[in-house]
Amino acid sequence: MERLGQTFINNVSIMKSHVTKHAIYGTSIAISAIILATLLSSQYHYGDINFSNIITAQKNNFTLWILDGMPFIFAFWGQYVSSAMALQASTIVLDQTHELRNQTAALEYQIMHDATHDSLTNLPNRVLLRDRLDQAIHVALREQKNLAFFILDLDHFKEINDTLGHHSGDQVLKHVALRLQGVMRESDTLARLGGDEFAILLPLIKKRSHVQIVAKKIQNSFHSPFIVGDLNLDVQASIGIAISPEHGKDVDTIMQRADVAMYVAKQNNDGFAIYSRKLDKHSPKRLTLMSELRQAIENGYLVLHYQPKIDLKNNCVSGVEALVRWQHKTHGLIPPDDFIPLAERTGLIKQLFIWVAKAALVQAEQWHNDQLKIGVAINLSPSTLLDADLPDVITGLLASYNLPARYITFEITEGSIIKDPDLALKILTRLAEMGINISIDDFGTGYSSLAYLKKLPVSELKIDKSFIQDMLKNENDEVIVRSTIDLAHNMGLKVVAEGAEEKETVTHLKTLGCDIIQGYYYSKPLSGNDCTEWFDTHGRGDMNKELEKN
Ligand code: C2E
Ligand code: CA
Ligand code: CA
Repeated sequence: MERLGQTFINNVSIMKSHVTKHAIYGTSIAISAIILATLLSSQYHYGDINFSNIITAQKNNFTLWILDGMPFIFAFWGQYVSSAMALQASTIVLDQTHELRNQTAALEYQIMHDATHDSLTNLPNRVLLRDRLDQAIHVALREQKNLAFFILDLDHFKEINDTLGHHSGDQVLKHVALRLQGVMRESDTLARLGGDEFAILLPLIKKRSHVQIVAKKIQNSFHSPFIVGDLNLDVQASIGIAISPEHGKDVDTIMQRADVAMYVAKQNNDGFAIYSRKLDKHSPKRLTLMSELRQAIENGYLVLHYQPKIDLKNNCVSGVEALVRWQHKTHGLIPPDDFIPLAERTGLIKQLFIWVAKAALVQAEQWHNDQLKIGVAINLSPSTLLDADLPDVITGLLASYNLPARYITFEITEGSIIKDPDLALKILTRLAEMGINISIDDFGTGYSSLAYLKKLPVSELKIDKSFIQDMLKNENDEVIVRSTIDLAHNMGLKVVAEGAEEKETVTHLKTLGCDIIQGYYYSKPLSGNDCTEWFDTHGRGDMNKELEKN
């Protein structure tokens, strides 16, 4: 406010100083008019211009007296009007500055709010929750009190999403948020961690038994069915609880331990569990993995394997899929299914994606330098696809490696599109404009909106391996594979069959018109060096010739 006041005074004095000049000009003109009129009067009335005639004219000429008053009138009037104008102009500028400041403050608030809240439920998100948990832990330690932290995960939520669609899933999540808000006190924090996972922070608990009471209240709130459209849905939740300082004195430990308890709750009949050291033995690997994953990514304890994709028409390798593994000092090579979900939950997935993309591009660039012109496919998890920074990250990566974008494919799942179709379309369009290919992975397992698929800049469908592996024994699976191939071709897309292990499967896929096969029949995923060797032993010269034809 003080600064604004000072600006106001400065503005007025600047404007005043400008307009005062005009008052001086006016006064000068008036004085010149007096001199001229006096000289003319002296000449005209008294016959000559001299000092005594000028004095006589000034004494006797009544009109000159009026003229003599003019400079004073001009000076006063000019000064007065200009001051008033300066004041008025500055008031306008000040009003506009106020308005702009108000708008900026509202925008800043909106940005802050969006960064710290979940857009679906408007609850605090993981970022804000971590901050509040951190503060609450410090207060509890200082005041020698206890706090409780709950992680709540809906049971079988994926089925609701898959069978009824994401819109119904979103409705359920909103209802859950409202019911939980009803159970909470003002001082508690209810947050959405992502997906179907919520967290509750009770910053002060007087007795340990209160924790059970709150857990029961939460469970009671789930007793009546959730009404979505015409349906009554029965939704249950599993709750994991950790208490600070007893179970941990920092945010990560408390969150991990509530998570361990939640996994135990999923398996027991109570629907909730309070963390205890004993529970660790149910998931020792999980717990340690969680804390080690960040270091593994930062220190590069990950490794990429590559599985060849065979183009059936040209009988050559069209590319490879990059599949990540974790080289762990005690657990050995950990498969991606054991740690990708962890990376998603702990917010490390973006870092992991960047590591994978760099490693894949380095390898592909090396193969290209070695005249092996093949493409590389990289898996994009849902949260990475919907990260608005993704196109910029990719642009940066493309600039750093000497590999044309048309050799890069991103594999995305149907689920990640369904989560936010508009944003997915926007981001995929930007990636496609860069020349990157988009492939729909695990096709057939998710919620497929063909209408939507048509709008997306997709070039390939990958039929999920569950259909391929059973297609010779199960007629339904065969029909799904056959119609997916027809559908994809009608839409101008290529079809990849994933998980072909037997010769008969490959033969049948060829008769159905499948374009590309990826499976153990040709090769398991191989390390970079083994893959180069595989290319050498499988006629790399011919493969290159075939590829150059495309
Ligand atoms: P996906 O994208 O569906 O990858 C194909 C999986 O099927 C791979 O498992 C591959 O080894 C396996 N596979 C291929 N052919 C056959 C076959 O003939 N028989 C059988 N039984 N399996 C076959 P992998 O490498 O264990 O990867 C599992 C999943 O982990 C991947 O499924 C993908 O969803 C995820 N993943 C792997 N790497 C990454 C990554 O870098 N980022 C992300 N976000 N996810 C990844
Ligand atoms: Ca894939
Ligand atoms: Ca797949």
